[in-house]
Amino acid sequence: MSEFTQPAEIAREVLKRLAMKRTQPTPDNYIALYHEIAGTSAVEIFPEKSLKSLAAALPRNTPEQSRFARQFDGAVGEKSWETLKTSLLGFATAAGAEPPQWATLIRELVLQLERSHADLTPVKKREALERMLKSSAAPDLLFTRLQSLIRSWAQGKTAESEQSLVDGDESTASAEPATPATAGGQKPAPGASAATASDGGELRELLAQLLENSIAQLLADSPSIVAEATKLAAEVRNAKSPDEIARLAAVMKKFGYRLNFVAEDQTELRTGLLNLLHLLIDNISELVIDDKNLHGQIAVLLELSRQPLDLRRIDDVERRLKEVIFKQGALKKHLTDAQDRLKAMLATFVDRLGDFSESTSSYHDTIERCVERIGQASDISQLSDVIGEVMRETRTIQLSAQRSRDELSEMKARVDATEKEVDRLQQELAETSEMVRIDPLTGALNRRGMDEALEREVARNIRRDGKLCVALLDIDNFKRLNDTFGHQVGDETLSHLAGVIRETLRPQDTLARYGGEEFLILLPETSLDAAIQTLTRLQRELTRKYFMHDNQKMLITFSAGAAELGSGESAPDAVKRADAAMYLAKRAGKNRVVAA
Ligand code: GH3
Ligand code: MG
Ligand code: MG
Repeated sequence: MSEFTQPAEIAREVLKRLAMKRTQPTPDNYIALYHEIAGTSAVEIFPEKSLKSLAAALPRNTPEQSRFARQFDGAVGEKSWETLKTSLLGFATAAGAEPPQWATLIRELVLQLERSHADLTPVKKREALERMLKSSAAPDLLFTRLQSLIRSWAQGKTAESEQSLVDGDESTASAEPATPATAGGQKPAPGASAATASDGGELRELLAQLLENSIAQLLADSPSIVAEATKLAAEVRNAKSPDEIARLAAVMKKFGYRLNFVAEDQTELRTGLLNLLHLLIDNISELVIDDKNLHGQIAVLLELSRQPLDLRRIDDVERRLKEVIFKQGALKKHLTDAQDRLKAMLATFVDRLGDFSESTSSYHDTIERCVERIGQASDISQLSDVIGEVMRETRTIQLSAQRSRDELSEMKARVDATEKEVDRLQQELAETSEMVRIDPLTGALNRRGMDEALEREVARNIRRDGKLCVALLDIDNFKRLNDTFGHQVGDETLSHLAGVIRETLRPQDTLARYGGEEFLILLPETSLDAAIQTLTRLQRELTRKYFMHDNQKMLITFSAGAAELGSGESAPDAVKRADAAMYLAKRAGKNRVVAA
């Protein structure tokens, strides 16, 4: 219990102690000391004024924000810390919530606009959309309303129900993302919503849809199964009594067996097709006369057919093959043109040769005749005539020979040039085939190209008895970069990094994309120390040659591990050691280089 009871006494004592302790006489210090002396606990004063100005600054752009802001105003009025806490938490959660996915919404909107719906003409849809866009709702509200509109189209609702959404019945608009109603966009069967969970109706409806939609799509090649599935779907919908359900269960069991057989057939069919593809690829060199321009393509097809089928990979290979086929088509055209030119020149050459030999043989005839006349000449005047003729003929043949020689040497030069062009085009054609070994995003070698380069460099290293280093490099915090700036910027960063690496390396070094954001560098004729120096130089280069996005410097760092190929060590083992070193670099805090 305090010895001071009267406020005046306490106040005096406070002032005395403040002076004694040389404490600043601020209101806070006074209050603290007052309560200490009085033996009471400090009562916090509600900062109403500050909170009111904070309330005035709160954003009220969306219905959600307005709701929390109103709650905040009320809490300040009631001086309720509890309500303040609730409304602030509400704000924070709303702010951290997923931003509206406009891209998904627009994609779905376009899809549903273009899709035909029973009872809904395109004009009606456009009108409903127009009304909604004119309603000047806040962006978030508009988003939710558009979602509901799209959903109602997907479910084939009428224009009236859309109108009620525009008129502001927010309670019906849930925040679910816009998704098609069912796979393939089919309408759920009538009566779906009437079915309740309690009598198993919902389950029956789902089963019916599974039979009708999914099975029909999966087994489109087996019309009899599809027909049976459709018939079963109708029975499933109607089966209500226990007897009906028991009968249906037996029918479903049989249907299950049939499905198993069909599935087995389909698996076999796929295996058969793959084998066929394999056979074709393996024997392509037997089927085409000149397969050297097809090496790259054959290799990727082979690789593709040996892995489990994957739509993304098939798409990727198709795209790359198309590029190569297009390029090769153009190159082949040039090549054929050049070859035709070459043929034409050779034909002219042969003609010229013919002309020349003709003119030389007529010269020989003339000379022979002259020799005869010389033998028969009886006086000198006859001789001078003959000699005159010989000289004229000789001069003519000399001129002709000279002209032919000039023409021939010019033609030879042209033939040489065309031959060189043919060689170059043929080389380019073969190189284009190799394009499929290159990662299209970064221009670095892909995994296949890398495996081949590794094999080549290791063999060369053994021949030369030299030093070969491999370095594995992984971008630091790349996921964060993707999450912050988007995948597109992530892609640009990868391609920028590959560019800087190529500029920094020597021509004999090789860069390959090892995986997503990981690169492998092969450094022939390089000691481990030198490899570490190269990687450190690369780190420095990256701080100079940064990449700009939206006027913002994107600094990329990486962690790397380097290993020197040991004698007798395989390339994959050396890569493994480099990988382990890279992992250590990550563990040690990233942005560093570690020697294995
Ligand atoms: P750490 O510093 O530990 O390496 O972290 P990290 O985020 O870089 O590594 P993590 O392995 O967690 O994430 C790698 C990310 O790289 C995830 C993946 O989405 C992204 N990624 C992989 N390939 C590509 C690509 O081709 N383009 C883009 N943009 N991102 C990619
Ligand atoms: Mg990684
Ligand atoms: Mg990484």
